[in-house]
Amino acid sequence: MTSDSAADILIVGGGLVGQTLALALAAHDISALIVERADPRAHLAESFDGRASAIASASARMLRALGLGDLLDEEGCPIARIEVAEGSHPEIIRFDAAASADAGGAVEPLGIMVENRALRRALLARVEQTPLVRLVAPVAIARLDRGPSGVTATLADGRTLFAALAVAADGRRSSTREAAGIRLAHWSYPSAALVSMLAHARPHHGVALELFYPSGPFALLPMRDLADGRHRSALVWTVGRDAAEGAARLGPRGLAAEVAKRLGGRLGAVEMIAPAVAWPLGFHHAERYGAQRLVLVGDAAHGIHPIAGQGLNLGFRDVAVLAEVLATGARSGLDLGDPALARRYERWRRADNSLTAFATDALARLFGLPGRPVEALRRFGLALVEHAPPAKRAFAAIARGTAGDLPPLLRGELG
Ligand SMILES: Cc1cc2nc3c(=O)[nH]c(=O)nc-3n(C[C@H](O)[C@H](O)[C@H](O)COP(=O)(O)OP(=O)(O)OC[C@H]3O[C@@H](n4cnc5c(N)ncnc54)[C@H](O)[C@@H]3O)c2cc1C
Repeated sequence: MTSDSAADILIVGGGLVGQTLALALAAHDISALIVERADPRAHLAESFDGRASAIASASARMLRALGLGDLLDEEGCPIARIEVAEGSHPEIIRFDAAASADAGGAVEPLGIMVENRALRRALLARVEQTPLVRLVAPVAIARLDRGPSGVTATLADGRTLFAALAVAADGRRSSTREAAGIRLAHWSYPSAALVSMLAHARPHHGVALELFYPSGPFALLPMRDLADGRHRSALVWTVGRDAAEGAARLGPRGLAAEVAKRLGGRLGAVEMIAPAVAWPLGFHHAERYGAQRLVLVGDAAHGIHPIAGQGLNLGFRDVAVLAEVLATGARSGLDLGDPALARRYERWRRADNSLTAFATDALARLFGLPGRPVEALRRFGLALVEHAPPAKRAFAAIARGTAGDLPPLLRGELG
């Protein structure tokens, strides 16, 4: 069922995770109303979010199953290799996509780099074409009532929406989570991610670089070439919060010179082609993922350091699992607001989210520590992993998101 005012599921927040969830539910014949407080077209502007995301292989399989394969093929840049090093030291760990080809010799990339704006555009187009999904925007929710028999949202313009279950996909400052009294474990890092895009003279050959400097990790991620043939990479550079503001003030030339210094001439002459934006970094994890007729997904449930590019991928994995759990419930004739379904979703997702969150937190702290003894320890650790193929395969599986108990969507199947 979908009408302008009623659906099976009410999704609060039409970001990358909320819109993907609506498409995943529709693929299982479950209808959704998405309520988004911002104008989705304004979210397509480069000034809104100039970031790019590394889409892990498992997430990419789901996006393809949901009809977004053209976006990945036409605008994505496959990551063929990840190189990790301690600053400019010569010891490097290399994770090659080709090292884990399947039995038929097919090579799945370690991830696909896509601009968030391109992903938003493709999702919005798909949402607008899907009869089981209605996007209600821009409008605020004045009141959300979650009663024993259903959910009622009263919008700021007076309209009323009804559903069996509400899903909070309203991001890290989720007011839906707060109103439900769900507490958070949270802390701030003393750093910010300086994000920008650069053009460079030499090709990147699909290599993602993660260089650990005393001031913080410096990541350069391969993007599709520009229309004029220049090569392009996305920069995510973790620096102290004060330094981030200073670096953003350096201006494009000053910043390009700093970037070129850290690359040691590797990509030839570099030029900044987007404004540098500083994102403050923090960690949060909800104590529970649900309340009466409410489930949390994506950044509403968890937010992690971007050091391993996994935040959105965790949200995509929430989407795939929640769609599977609700579809199974619907096939058994259960009320979609049945607490047993929310519990099953939480049991399935909490371990992966917790493990990834704590692993990225540990990495961010380990690689943020100054001093020669820690530096020597890190270089020893990197050398150890470089010479241990099983450890490398395990890390590659984590980067791809292919480890653990995967629901059908993350295997590229519609269930
Ligand atoms: C610098 C940086 C780099 C990153 N790089 C990567 C990467 O390479 N790979 C990766 O996997 N992840 C990455 N991440 C993490 C990723 O960006 C987030 O995890 C992801 O964007 C979260 O999506 P979301 O839809 O859950 O939340 P959001 O993107 O925050 O969307 C929430 C939506 O809800 C709407 N909303 C909020 N409140 C309400 C309300 N009350 N009513 C209605 N609507 C509401 C908002 O307008 C918004 O549209 C990175 C993060 C940072 C900071």
